[in-house]
Amino acid sequence: MLRIALPNKGRLSEEVRELFNDAGLEVRIVGDRALSASLGGEFEAIFVRSQDIPEFVADGAADAGVTGWDLVCESGRQLEQLLDLEFGRCRLVVAAREESGIASVEQIDGSPRVATPFPSLSRSYFERIGRKVEIVPVSGAAEIAPHLGIADIVVDLTSTGSTFRVNGLREVATILESTARLVTARARSPARQEDEKTRALNELVMALASVIRARDRRYLMANVPKSQLEQVRDVLPGLKGPTVVDIMDGGSYVAVHAVVAASSVYRTIAALKALGCEGILVTRIERLMP
Ligand code: AMP
Repeated sequence: MLRIALPNKGRLSEEVRELFNDAGLEVRIVGDRALSASLGGEFEAIFVRSQDIPEFVADGAADAGVTGWDLVCESGRQLEQLLDLEFGRCRLVVAAREESGIASVEQIDGSPRVATPFPSLSRSYFERIGRKVEIVPVSGAAEIAPHLGIADIVVDLTSTGSTFRVNGLREVATILESTARLVTARARSPARQEDEKTRALNELVMALASVIRARDRRYLMANVPKSQLEQVRDVLPGLKGPTVVDIMDGGSYVAVHAVVAASSVYRTIAALKALGCEGILVTRIERLMP
């Protein structure tokens, strides 16, 4: 049984469950308290706070875990990243009060007090750039600290920057970019137990990666005049070039199937129309394994 630590609540929990569901690992809650769940087959989920997941994985209480890269880095534990899940995207930034006029870290005077829920990453960042600071650890809402007079600047996560703006703060530097990651400590565990668990873990990575890869692609089908096939090939590169299929009683048309980037579907349809294509159909892809 491979045990995977997943966030029990918070920003990442919903999307993590959705991803596992899409990969065919439906989270089935056992009992009324959602502390653990069967993921089907050889996987079991345990639900803990995102912040605790690096420790659980590093200590071997779970074989793998999903949490924010910011939390993995802050924990200082040596974990191996198996997969970037491409959601929970945010940045750890340094922010100063708007009215301070500070636009870069070089302009921050003296030894500022830094309010942050990320003391370790903040300390190493300011050490790296050769600045003396006093760290004021807070567990949340760091953005109000400068207004309360308990800090001069803050280091906190942001995705859109709106919380900072609303609180009269301006971003002056980015320390780290983060997304949710699947991490493990298995590379460091004794080789004896490797085989079965490593195989299961590799399969898990493959399943999740195939869902992530499919999310921003679409499967497109169109009936194409045979005379336009060469031009259509330029519009529809596909994974290995488009698939061309005969249509029964299709006359001068053949069917063409291809995988396209979701972001280019709009443009592609217009280009196919211009080439005289008909019966254009676009569908989502559940999984994609190249
Ligand atoms: P939680 O505290 O359980 O809600 O999870 C917070 C995690 O969500 C962080 O450690 C980040 O990895 C991620 N995250 C994504 N966007 C943001 C954001 N704008 N603010 C805070 N955390 C974010």
